[in-house]
Amino acid sequence: MDLDAFFASCEQRERPEYRGRPVVVGARPGQRGVVAAASYEARRYGIHSAMPISEAYRRCPDAVYLRPDLEKYRRASRQVFQLLESITPVVEAASIDEAYLDVSGLEKLLGTPETIGREIKHRILAETGLTASVGIGPNRLIAKLGSEHHKPDGLTVIPPDRVLDFLAPMPVANLRGLGPQAQKIFSRLGIRTVAQLRSIPLPHLEQHLGKKAAASFHRQAQGIASDQVVPGRTRKSISKETTFETDVRDHAVLHDVLLRLAADVAGTARRERLSGSVVTLKIRFAGFETYTRQQKRPLPTQDEREILKTAWRLFLDSQLPDKPVRLIGVGISHWATHQPAQADLFDPPEQRAENQRLLKTIDAVTEKFGKNMLQVGASRKPGV
Ligand SMILES: [Mg+2]
Repeated sequence: MDLDAFFASCEQRERPEYRGRPVVVGARPGQRGVVAAASYEARRYGIHSAMPISEAYRRCPDAVYLRPDLEKYRRASRQVFQLLESITPVVEAASIDEAYLDVSGLEKLLGTPETIGREIKHRILAETGLTASVGIGPNRLIAKLGSEHHKPDGLTVIPPDRVLDFLAPMPVANLRGLGPQAQKIFSRLGIRTVAQLRSIPLPHLEQHLGKKAAASFHRQAQGIASDQVVPGRTRKSISKETTFETDVRDHAVLHDVLLRLAADVAGTARRERLSGSVVTLKIRFAGFETYTRQQKRPLPTQDEREILKTAWRLFLDSQLPDKPVRLIGVGISHWATHQPAQADLFDPPEQRAENQRLLKTIDAVTEKFGKNMLQVGASRKPGV
């Protein structure tokens, strides 16, 4: 299940005057940043997510431009997920607006997968005013590609014996994990469709793509993928980034911004009871060169000071070019399986308790007054 143009649809359902009009959610025109979501009316102008906002504005200056209201989208998402969970308990959240449902074995109770798919779409529309596209298939890959097949408001059913035909004419670009590198290799080999990919022997693919990627694309081309739906699983990572109005060189400013981003990431992690073992730093320089650096921490964390400390060390130590920065971001991933994970188990117990109190206070203030009202202090010297 994939909600259609989710952020834009949330805005349109709330404001009838936006319906039927191009709506673009994202950065403010005239500033730096990108499109987060575009309504289908806006897509007709060629506007899509991740497009620079300046480009969107050039294409359609008359669109409604809105800043994202994540709280609003989270509320709508919660409503949809509750509805899905009332249909089957096996619901896996893939993102804020996408879910995998395992409906196998529900035939006697609810009808065929197609009937259940229709019911889901109908109830989402009736109860939330949003439209969804549903794909039904024997595994995750096929269901996902099915949901993308007809949008918006689509329902695509791919029974097991139709999988190969369904995939054959599809552009390889639709497969999972196709980075710019693989894209280049495929176009050099003249592979455009899944059918063409299927005709290449695996050893030949391995020569060009390496063993791992070749195996993955080879499997996908045959329609082979996992059919496991893990209920409740949510996101793989939490990250935040910011694009500067004008490029920044000043370390004090970068450190400040990183702290704010780390606080955002940590706040979300605590709300969702997640602790991450890997910290990622993302930097884009003027001219769009982008670098990401990752470090595994000895212990998982959900504390902004720990996230910042690791991210800042990555910034100072990882031999990034000394150039003006256009975008900076930080994230955590690789969740700990046990909760709660303490910020630092090597701290004495009193210190730990105090840490927990501090973080709780920050969360309470954030809940009441909004983000960035209260921040921990942090030193720019590495290791402090
Ligand atoms: Mg969607």
